[in-house]
Amino acid sequence: MTLDVAWAQRWAREAARSIADAKVELVELDRQIGDGDHGENLNRGFQAVVAKLDAVTEPPQMIGDVLKTIATTLMSSVGGASGPLYGTAFLRAAKVSGLPELDSHAVVALLEGALEGITARGKAQVGEKTMVDAWSPAVDAAVAAADAGASPEEVLVAAEKAAAAGAESTIPLVATKGRASYLGERSAGHKDPGAASSVILLQAAVRASEDAA
Ligand code: ADP
Ligand code: MG
Repeated sequence: MTLDVAWAQRWAREAARSIADAKVELVELDRQIGDGDHGENLNRGFQAVVAKLDAVTEPPQMIGDVLKTIATTLMSSVGGASGPLYGTAFLRAAKVSGLPELDSHAVVALLEGALEGITARGKAQVGEKTMVDAWSPAVDAAVAAADAGASPEEVLVAAEKAAAAGAESTIPLVATKGRASYLGERSAGHKDPGAASSVILLQAAVRASEDAA
């Protein structure tokens, strides 16, 4: 039940599998309020991540090595707004790099790093109908869970649940950042695709931790 480098690798592979499964759904969400490429973009990026992980001759030693591989691969292969956003998220999440395994507070640090990366890059705040609406409540829930003595896996579950609620909360919002903001009021009534894919990534992190049990 440890969140170690093997967990990080399972997370990447679970993420690739679930993004592939959700590709059509993400394309459909992005077609409503964007240009319809989000599912294709992310699927291409995570397939490239898996190819990178498969190709290494030396297995990664640190969680941060895996997170940095995810980051650089997404940056170079996803494109669109979400490539640099997720790339920076995983790069900042890799600040937990030096640790052989994550305790509850390190899980919080990883998630905080991801949110910091997204906001540093995209400058969006909560309520602007972006992936920040999933990650920000996820971090808040993770902090609360860790402070209440939850295990690392429970912290991930709390984050994932809050992200899912956050993604649902984007439906009535009018987008003020990203491509969806070009639609103005017409962006209301649709879930933000980046918030939806963020939930999928956090669900993959939870599943990767269950596999370790
Ligand atoms: P593009 O909009 O360039 O086609 P994608 O379709 O891959 O890029 O990703 C769109 C998602 O990116 C949106 O649903 C939103 O969650 C996220 N996004 C866009 N701009 C921002 C921003 N400034 N801050 C945070 N997230 C953003
Ligand atoms: Mg798009």
